[in-house]
Amino acid sequence: MSTDHFDVLVIGSGPGGYVAALKAAQMGARAAVIEKHHLGGTCLNYGCIPSKALLSSAEMLHNVRRAGQWGVTVNGEVGFDWQEIIKHKSRILRQLRGGIAGLFKGRKVTHLAGLGSFDSTGRVVVTPGDGPPQTVTAGTVIVATGSVPMRIPGWPDDPAVVCTSDEAVHWATLPGKLLIVGGGVIGCEFACMMQAFGVEVTVVEMLPDLLPTLDHDLGKALLGVFKQRGITCYLDTKVDEVDVSSGDGTIKTRLSSGESLKFDRVLVATGRRPNTENLGLKSAGIETDRHGFVPVNDYLETNVAGHYCIGDANGRCMLAHAASAHGVAAVENALGHRKAFDAPIPSAVYTFPEVASVGLSEQEAREQGLPIAIGRFPIGHLGKAMATRHTDGLVKMIRHRETGQLLGAHVIGHNATECIAATTALLHQNVSMHDVAETVWAHPTISEAIKESAEDALGMGLHLPPRKIFRVPVGVG
Ligand code: FAD
Ligand code: NAD
Repeated sequence: MSTDHFDVLVIGSGPGGYVAALKAAQMGARAAVIEKHHLGGTCLNYGCIPSKALLSSAEMLHNVRRAGQWGVTVNGEVGFDWQEIIKHKSRILRQLRGGIAGLFKGRKVTHLAGLGSFDSTGRVVVTPGDGPPQTVTAGTVIVATGSVPMRIPGWPDDPAVVCTSDEAVHWATLPGKLLIVGGGVIGCEFACMMQAFGVEVTVVEMLPDLLPTLDHDLGKALLGVFKQRGITCYLDTKVDEVDVSSGDGTIKTRLSSGESLKFDRVLVATGRRPNTENLGLKSAGIETDRHGFVPVNDYLETNVAGHYCIGDANGRCMLAHAASAHGVAAVENALGHRKAFDAPIPSAVYTFPEVASVGLSEQEAREQGLPIAIGRFPIGHLGKAMATRHTDGLVKMIRHRETGQLLGAHVIGHNATECIAATTALLHQNVSMHDVAETVWAHPTISEAIKESAEDALGMGLHLPPRKIFRVPVGVG
């Protein structure tokens, strides 16, 4: 068995792993990435990119159907070509995978195709699909193996019928009646997408709100939109039974409310678990928690020196941009630029209207016992929203009442995922709510609602009916 040595060895080529390898190479290190599947990880092959490609066609369809609101006439039947939509998705996946391969080539990152498994500390065996295994050693090893969808134990495991997002982003045909179990990010994005494609959608969420990990006002607002569109949502409800034994393709389900419903496909979207089995972590002495996540310190280092874990596998935040930011930070720490990772990470949900959030929600701030003031602004009051007929939504801002600091921003509305960027930059700078309100925001934009909401949190809103007069002491903001 041949042995090769690298300065930085990364296991997994998702947005965490491939970015870490590029950063290491940029900093002059000899870097390699082990990948058992396509380059790009979940994000590129089963997550962000395929789902957003499908969502973009769905949103176009949704808008064309209401083109009359813009005074635009569409003659003939509005329809869609599923095969064409799938072709576009597959084309961009190939293009982006090729892009990563090109970046690796350009920076001389070695791509080792195969399954990586620790042999001992700093030593990994790579087993390709064909050909002999190879041992590689490294001074720094970065675990970037991501996560996989959770399935529900005891439910039928035919992925053509009871699916996860891994199958759903590549469905060759659409279901007629779809049950989505879980009203989190995947559940809501798919509900929105599938309804636009004419699928009859039911969402069952066990907690009292959709998108329960975000500020609860966002999920409540989205529920209103879903109801208008005819998406049936059961909250505070679980699916107790799934029965596929009828033989005619009908899936019988029983909900905890006692209701029995029939569907022809089920999408399980109840969260993801770390992909850390079969990785030989024990052989390297790397600890995992009871869920399989690899705990890391503020430098993203595991309990074993020189061994880092980034992205979904460390359990801190399951988002692509978090994984990439971890990748850069881990490499910088490994190569001597030590800095604790504490950047605020925005969330973006691609329903239409979009949802986006950064920092503390009202619920989190209250749980922490922080004294807070809340600002709100309905997006429908904006000239841009009215002019462009995107009036659904609101902005909610959270301010520390004593220090005046901006604590969080929460948006549901058209372009929310773009609007959140400015607020994330402001939060990263630890600014006050006064700084947000004093920033000049372009007009007419949807992001003006952030300024308006900041002013509301200060009791200084001009475009809302006056509420309690609130004097802000000079120097506190
Ligand atoms: P991954 O992307 O999971 O990559 C891990 C890689 O490691 C995989 O390629 C895997 O094959 C490889 N691997 C695992 N074990 C081994 C091994 N032993 N040897 C070799 N290779 C191995 N996030 C967003 O920020 N925005 C979105 O819009 C978004 N949409 C999503 C939509 C869906 C449907 C899903 C499922 C997820 C979405 N996410 C989104 C989440 C995002 O995809 C993940 O947070 C992100 O991919 C995590 O990156 P990662 O690098 O940690 O791991
Ligand atoms: P999630 O944690 O967002 O949502 C899972 C939901 O399922 C939760 O609301 C939970 O209460 C509910 N649930 C769990 N068990 C249930 C049960 N038995 N019955 C009914 N409801 C149940 O997870 P997800 O939607 O599966 O997404 C996985 C990860 O992928 C998330 O961490 C998310 O951040 C990431 N992701 C991100 C994006 C994005 O950024 N736009 C898109 C998709 C996925």
